[in-house]
Amino acid sequence: MEQIQLDNIDINASRIGLGTWAIGGWMWGGTDEKESIRTIHTAFDKGINLIDTAPVYGFGKAEEIIGKAMKEHGKRDDILLATKTGIDWIDDEPFRNGSRKKIQEDIDNSLRRMQTDYIDILQIHWPDPQVPIYETAETMDYLLKQGKIRAIGVSNFTPEEMDIFREAAPLHTIQPPYNLFEREIEKDLLPYVQKHELSSLTYGSLCRGLLSGKMTADWEFNGDDLRKLDPKFQQPRYGQYLKAVKELDELAQDRFSKRVIHLALKWVIQQPGASIALMGARKPEQLDPIDGLDFHIDDKTMHEIDEILLKHIQDPVGPGFMAPPDRQQLNLK
Ligand code: NAP
Repeated sequence: MEQIQLDNIDINASRIGLGTWAIGGWMWGGTDEKESIRTIHTAFDKGINLIDTAPVYGFGKAEEIIGKAMKEHGKRDDILLATKTGIDWIDDEPFRNGSRKKIQEDIDNSLRRMQTDYIDILQIHWPDPQVPIYETAETMDYLLKQGKIRAIGVSNFTPEEMDIFREAAPLHTIQPPYNLFEREIEKDLLPYVQKHELSSLTYGSLCRGLLSGKMTADWEFNGDDLRKLDPKFQQPRYGQYLKAVKELDELAQDRFSKRVIHLALKWVIQQPGASIALMGARKPEQLDPIDGLDFHIDDKTMHEIDEILLKHIQDPVGPGFMAPPDRQQLNLK
């Protein structure tokens, strides 16, 4: 597994990081703890050394499962734990809360659940318009100075919000969405990362499974699976994305003897400013494709990929449906 030295921090990370939202179960139709632990161990065996999680993934469940997997694994210092803070919940309804009090509660709960005494990268999950960015940033800086965290990250922030954040605290990483179908960050965030020598952990590398190549027009999602609400998975738009997946798969086979899932992962890590591609997995075999990233996408193929996307996707839509509400929107104090 290719590694990268993260700018600004003394951390060497694998180019693919394991995302654990689905391992938490919530919004993914449930979880299987034993299978999840086996998935985490498989990731380590394959050279993945970074796990991304959040307290809200299964309302503590994903972090608890990681804690159990890490305990069995035993080598804490070989692994990079990236978790988040700044999302609260009442009765399984999440909302933004970037206050000092919430961040301080979160860090202690995350450390307890993951059975560790430090977090490698702590990220603000979403900006909270009800809390001054300074307050959030200063609290993160305090945790860094205390040694509870090794690096500070933000997720889903705009460049303007990051400019304010960086006045009050050092910033090491950002976590925006990025995949073949969701490329908004090429306009501003990837250039920002390069300009300010930050590192990126980009999420949704497989566009919530769409770029795995396994999905069909009649695919059924179970329980509370978020893809029931995801506008990309609604017809007629879903059909456009599936046509693009099919042609990308043919291209990957003809050109590299690979499949669309390999192309999607490799495409992310080849982009300027992209440091770590987060890939969600909850079954060990879902990680098999990471053994097949031993190829390079040349400029001509990059161009052909763009043409395939333009040809099929007439009605593109981003991942905005995932944004959690803030307290004002829920009439909370
Ligand atoms: P993703 O990587 O785009 O897709 C993951 C899903 O694709 C898996 O849960 C699995 O779904 C399917 N999949 C994975 N490997 C597969 C394979 N080999 N064959 C077929 N299907 C496969 O999505 P993501 O989990 O949303 O994003 C990755 C991570 O980024 C998250 O886990 C989380 O850590 C982070 N994230 C952060 C934010 C944020 O706001 N900061 C938002 C979203 C995600 P099934 O098991 O259902 O088949």
